[in-house]
Amino acid sequence: MAVNLLEFAKNEFVQFASEIGEKPFRARQLMRWVHGSGAADFDVMTDISKPLRERLKEIAEISAPGTVRDTTAADGTRKWLLDVGTGNAIETVFIPERNRGTLCVSSQAGCALACTFCSTGRQGFNRNLRVAEIIGQLWIANRDLGRGLTADRPITNVVMMGMGEPLANFDNVVAAMQLMLDDDAYGLSRRRVTLSTSGLVPAIDRLRDTCPVALAVSLHAPNDELRNELVPINKKYPLSELLAACMRYIEKAPRDFVTFEYVMLDGINDTQIHARQLVELLQSVPCKINLIPFNPFPQSGYQRSGADAIARFRNELMAAGMTVTVRKTRGDDIDAACGQLAGQVQDRTRRRERPHLAKLAMTTS
Ligand code: SAH
Ligand code: SF4
Repeated sequence: MAVNLLEFAKNEFVQFASEIGEKPFRARQLMRWVHGSGAADFDVMTDISKPLRERLKEIAEISAPGTVRDTTAADGTRKWLLDVGTGNAIETVFIPERNRGTLCVSSQAGCALACTFCSTGRQGFNRNLRVAEIIGQLWIANRDLGRGLTADRPITNVVMMGMGEPLANFDNVVAAMQLMLDDDAYGLSRRRVTLSTSGLVPAIDRLRDTCPVALAVSLHAPNDELRNELVPINKKYPLSELLAACMRYIEKAPRDFVTFEYVMLDGINDTQIHARQLVELLQSVPCKINLIPFNPFPQSGYQRSGADAIARFRNELMAAGMTVTVRKTRGDDIDAACGQLAGQVQDRTRRRERPHLAKLAMTTS
């Protein structure tokens, strides 16, 4: 069976070149064609001899997930639904802004961590995405966004904030991010690749040691009691351990702060008391806080905080000297906003049958 070059980490390109009896520079050449130029076949690889191209066609392929649907929102946000087989589909979102273009990349089909306010979490979990399925999202988006072989790159930033918990698929996510950073592939700087995690403490330490990129942590609550409820992984890695891991991460991070994401849920975590607790909690952590107005989905059971509540919360934090931004909601007319990505997941965790969520669905319908 042909090997898929999109599945290769950098060292596997080198290994492949050696296995077919080619010099190491071929590895670099192939990486540049496949990732740097977005080649989909071997015929375009004009600096590779015809006989070698013919041989490559027999033993290798460049195979990304197929596009099921490709939708563009009124504000230019574009969403791809990609088929990853066996009834699963994932989503990738491109968010154009004046001076940058950000691609939001998925790492798993579904998510096992079951945060209560997250549409992906509600769907349950099927499996980790392979390297080709993760880096393939960038490869597809680059091609579809009209990047010719010489054109400027529309994607300047990547955020691992799509479906799934990236640190729960550590090896494949790191292999894909290393390609994002490689000058022979996508050449993004570490500061422009952000990984968002709900707080898998040991994996945050591993990331620091293997592939430090910009880090965002989904905080969402200022105390353990509330966070246990909203982000259940907090029961395993409580706030004190999570914040200590953030401090260790900053020592090697490409940025000298961690971003904390905080979803604004009406009446749940958005009062003045919560704001004050948050100030207290984060007083010695170099950070920026990103408030995310909750994006609703059917039967979520939550509502977005009002504009007044969000402004009050932000002002309270700013008055204490914290750096705060409020995330603009993009692409909500095509369900492409944070936490709305649902794709299609064949849940193997039977989440929908779990009693506490069934109860929640009942009270909200
Ligand atoms: N699993 C990772 C990354 C994916 S989620 C994580 O949890 O960090 C990306 C961000 O969107 C996270 O901060 C997540 O908590 C947030 N989010 C999830 N559901 C949301 C919703 N319905 N509205 C707004 N933000 C949401
Ligand atoms: Fe998973 Fe992140 Fe959603 Fe939580 S917020 S369920 S960790 S994708």
